[in-house]
Amino acid sequence: MSQMDVDEPVCLPRLSRVAVCGGTHGNELSGVYLVRELLKLQRRPSEDDDEEPTSLLTVLSNPRAVQQGRRYTDTDLNRCFTLATLNGPTSDSPPYEILRARELNAMLGPKGGPGAVDLVCDLHNTTANMGLCFIAYSDCDWICLHIFKYLQRQMPDVPMRFVHLGSSEKESYSLDSVGKHGFAMEIGPQPHGVVRSDIYGLMNAGVQHMLDWVRLFNSGAVFEGGFVDVFTLVKNIDYPRDEKTHNITAAVHSHLQDRDFCLLRPHDPLFQTFSGETLRYSGSEPLYAFFINEGSYYEKGIALSLARKRRLVIPAIRAQTEEEEQARGFTSEEEE
Ligand SMILES: [Zn+2]
Repeated sequence: MSQMDVDEPVCLPRLSRVAVCGGTHGNELSGVYLVRELLKLQRRPSEDDDEEPTSLLTVLSNPRAVQQGRRYTDTDLNRCFTLATLNGPTSDSPPYEILRARELNAMLGPKGGPGAVDLVCDLHNTTANMGLCFIAYSDCDWICLHIFKYLQRQMPDVPMRFVHLGSSEKESYSLDSVGKHGFAMEIGPQPHGVVRSDIYGLMNAGVQHMLDWVRLFNSGAVFEGGFVDVFTLVKNIDYPRDEKTHNITAAVHSHLQDRDFCLLRPHDPLFQTFSGETLRYSGSEPLYAFFINEGSYYEKGIALSLARKRRLVIPAIRAQTEEEEQARGFTSEEEE
């Protein structure tokens, strides 16, 4: 690619197929009910169906876990989307979620293939006080970063952050990695197994703005460049545990509880032991805490995650015109 001209928008393929997924974790109910609502709307015949250039797929990802009101039945579905798990050999009685991951990969993917949907937005809830977060594996996917920037502008009163999980050497294991572009929309606080109208409302608004952005993008709008603050995961911290029983011996400190995305400085209170002692952050670098006391991470050995904050500059973008797409198609055929 030639030098990036700051004024010249980067041209990207249009997003003709978009998937909105909920219930990937069966007890995260905002996404479950939002997907059911979107499915109802889709069943209603609409007059301008023919004019809609974007097709929307709405998917309840883990119906068995949703029915049981649990995060998963056999294993965490949102850890099953590595190429090895999707394409490798299976045992005689594979976990339900591995089979379901393969179904979803056939429906929305195949992951990494040209037939995959253009964008996956996977809906999640957290018990942590995180507001609305985009969680993505890449920090250079201009589509996801621009959608995030657009939502920030459309919903100025909502605390919103972009969390970057990836490191270049590790492959993403989450459902959103099946699409050409993808992110998880993670909203909290909401207890698992509960739906709160305020959190549901945020998710609904977030998804509608995301779909508006896709329509604008596909219709040729130019989105100005700018900056996005990104929180890149540095490490997870487990609870203090009893060496023999492995039971936790402390809870997140009350000074830290509910203060997601605050800066945790060396020696700040981190945990409060059940015998009343304060344990302090022993790291040397101030870092931003998030997923603080997330309910479903006790089993994963994660009490909180820590991130470094960076300001990313993102270029202006626009969708390729039909002519540009065809021209590009011809070029790639000639190259082959
Ligand atoms: Zn989840």
